[in-house]
Amino acid sequence: MSYPHTSRAVVVPDHDSGISVHELPVPALVESAVLVRIEAATGCGTDVHIAAGHMRHATTCRVPLVLGHEMVGRVVALGSNRTTDALNRPVSEGDLIAWASPWCGSCYWCAIAKQPTLCINANVYGFGPTDQFPGLTGGFAEYCYVHPRSQLVKVPELLEPALASSATCAFRTVVHAFETAGRVAPTDTLVIQGSGAVGLYATAYAKMVGIPQVIVIGAPTERLNLATQWGASQVLDIQTTTPEERLEAVIAATDGRGADLVAECSGVAPAFTESLNLVRRGGRVLVVGAADPRPSEIHATSFNMRQISVSGSISAEISHFWRAFNLLEQHQTNFDFSALLGNHYTLDTVDDALTSIAEGAMKPVIEPTPS
Ligand SMILES: [Zn+2]
Ligand SMILES: [Zn+2]
Repeated sequence: MSYPHTSRAVVVPDHDSGISVHELPVPALVESAVLVRIEAATGCGTDVHIAAGHMRHATTCRVPLVLGHEMVGRVVALGSNRTTDALNRPVSEGDLIAWASPWCGSCYWCAIAKQPTLCINANVYGFGPTDQFPGLTGGFAEYCYVHPRSQLVKVPELLEPALASSATCAFRTVVHAFETAGRVAPTDTLVIQGSGAVGLYATAYAKMVGIPQVIVIGAPTERLNLATQWGASQVLDIQTTTPEERLEAVIAATDGRGADLVAECSGVAPAFTESLNLVRRGGRVLVVGAADPRPSEIHATSFNMRQISVSGSISAEISHFWRAFNLLEQHQTNFDFSALLGNHYTLDTVDDALTSIAEGAMKPVIEPTPS
């Protein structure tokens, strides 16, 4: 395949104009960079917020930008120094790959704290800007330029590309978050708040790693039914129960103690307040989905008198991508993961894909170059 000079891309030109399809230049391939042709991308609630201008105050979101941060692509061309993936497996033209943000490797968080997802110099895919090298860094485009510093992994060929794409945001984030939570005992009870893609992937993950009792709080009914199919021992509908009733249910399911671990996957501020009531004394709260600009009301005595620990994480390293893909591949016959995927769209109908998210679809699929 010859190296393309331009790429169609869904651009957010500023925070007030929505999205439009543009023809952008494809930068020349420098050493260690990779050019991929997007095989499948998936939409995310964050894309809706970026397109609507709700992220105008986020320093990581820099317009103009190419939208889309969940994607997998096939290698079109490799820089002269890039011959393998993060596991030293040979990579060649046509391979399906996924890639992590390009951490700088030399800021305090990268070099000393070893917390690269907090890198202060990261250019996050799908968050721009297009006017700074390499520019073409969003998933809703024909091509994506994988930064020379981005680590990448090959995607298992048995995994449907759209499903792999959906794992490049929600599932690898779940894998990273549970890693920070530490050990979960085989007798522990986990409460998951939220039944969107993050909450459902967390439900599946809990089942995969053998957490026996999982209680999922969320809505609507179809998603809770999916949570039950994926192993939730109990579901609590947020639309038909009060916080008091949910607390009562969790207390009843845990011999009066409360949950050993609560994973906040809903994104809304009141969920964190509620998590501190649902967790047992000495238990843990894992913040995965928080995205609400509103503050959560909490009592600091939760952390000394009740010895509750809280941890959280953002994004993921390439190891979490690898684990996410391998877990999906191993377990895809046990879970109907395709139930997370929505309708299919092209670059010209991304607006409809974003509308579908606002109307309740979890992961609409964008195929920039439908076959
Ligand atoms: Zn996402
Ligand atoms: Zn850094």
